[in-house]
Amino acid sequence: MTVLVGLNIVIAALLGFSSALCAGASMGMRGNVPMAWLAVALAAGSTQTLVMTLAGGGVWEVAAAATLAPLGYLCAGQAVRWMSPHASQGRALISVVAALSGLAVILLLLDVPFFYQALSIQAACTIAVTDAMIQWIRQAQRRPLDTMLTIGLGLITITCAIRIPVVLVLFGADATFAELHESVFETVVMSVSGLLVPPVIFLVLARNVSDVIAAYQRQSEHDGLTGLLNRRAFDTAAENSLSEGGAVIFCDIDHFKLVNDRFGHEAGDDVICTFAILLARTGHHAGRIGGEEFALLLPGKSAEEAFALADMIRARFNETMHPILAAGERLSASFGVSECAPGESPRTAFRRADVALYQAKETGRNRVVDFTAVKNHHAEVLAPHSPLQAA
Ligand code: GH3
Ligand code: MG
Ligand code: MG
Repeated sequence: MTVLVGLNIVIAALLGFSSALCAGASMGMRGNVPMAWLAVALAAGSTQTLVMTLAGGGVWEVAAAATLAPLGYLCAGQAVRWMSPHASQGRALISVVAALSGLAVILLLLDVPFFYQALSIQAACTIAVTDAMIQWIRQAQRRPLDTMLTIGLGLITITCAIRIPVVLVLFGADATFAELHESVFETVVMSVSGLLVPPVIFLVLARNVSDVIAAYQRQSEHDGLTGLLNRRAFDTAAENSLSEGGAVIFCDIDHFKLVNDRFGHEAGDDVICTFAILLARTGHHAGRIGGEEFALLLPGKSAEEAFALADMIRARFNETMHPILAAGERLSASFGVSECAPGESPRTAFRRADVALYQAKETGRNRVVDFTAVKNHHAEVLAPHSPLQAA
């Protein structure tokens, strides 16, 4: 018995320590919400274990089970909910679980037969954990970690849901607290829960940490304004995708400084985003490599195909009606194209595309120039000169 008490106190201390770790990690990750909910869930588990151990049965143990068990399940469920990209609190769920928990306390105070108190407690826990499982199944991807978490949540849901019907069959509705407390069934259920809950908590933690790392990785590789690849990630993508050869397109919005000067920086940002969307829609690796400078990677494509694609983007951008502009005014962009031979360093191709882009600017803007045309000194001219040109 003393060993059991000592063991429970160690478990309570471990849960409390894990709760403090989650709270610290949540703050360290700038208020990570799932971590904060897990911290509360673990604190509830720790307190309940302590009360159960020190109260040694009776009213306080039931009161702790009535309040802290649903709270623990609810908070762990909220942690799962908040890992979804479409996270919501589930206010109806919180109200139902709180109402059932409150009802259990009232039944305890009114000294209603224990079975009905347990029914209320168990219904609150089952609803909380079922909701977590449903929310999780709705959004989980098919990664091994997600499947393991689905199975873990499913098993906890089953353990919660079968408890009351089994108690009813085995002991009847007039079962006392002491009868249940000392039964083999209750010992088995407690042991199974004790085995299931820690791995599930660990899986939630692992999934949350992997989400946070993925988000930081995404942030470190993408431009904050447009969502396109940043320069560093674009260079890496080029090294990886152009080894078998292909083509690159460099592009730059024409007279963009005028847009900022006339309409302000925010309007300039909108124009940058409009251009970025056109590039992203091509489905190729698109990068923002400077303020209003962009680039596309076209693995396996010829310079002619790159030229045609660049000219299509040029025409679309030039046709776009920007709400800031007066009727008849248009924006334009210039493009430089270069092939990248198999085995050639993409940087060499970038330099050639840059030269071609410079040529496009020099020869009137709103046009596409292929580097081979620069070498031959006859840049292709596709459209008339246009600083915020008239349509
Ligand atoms: P050109 O046709 O020769 O390319 O002329 P330009 O005016 O487009 O080029 P210039 O290099 O003179 O000016 C680019 C401007 O882009 C200057 C800079 O303030 C602005 N810019 C750079 N980054 C951003 C940004 O993120 N948002 C906004 N709104 N402006 C930016
Ligand atoms: Mg420019
Ligand atoms: Mg520029």
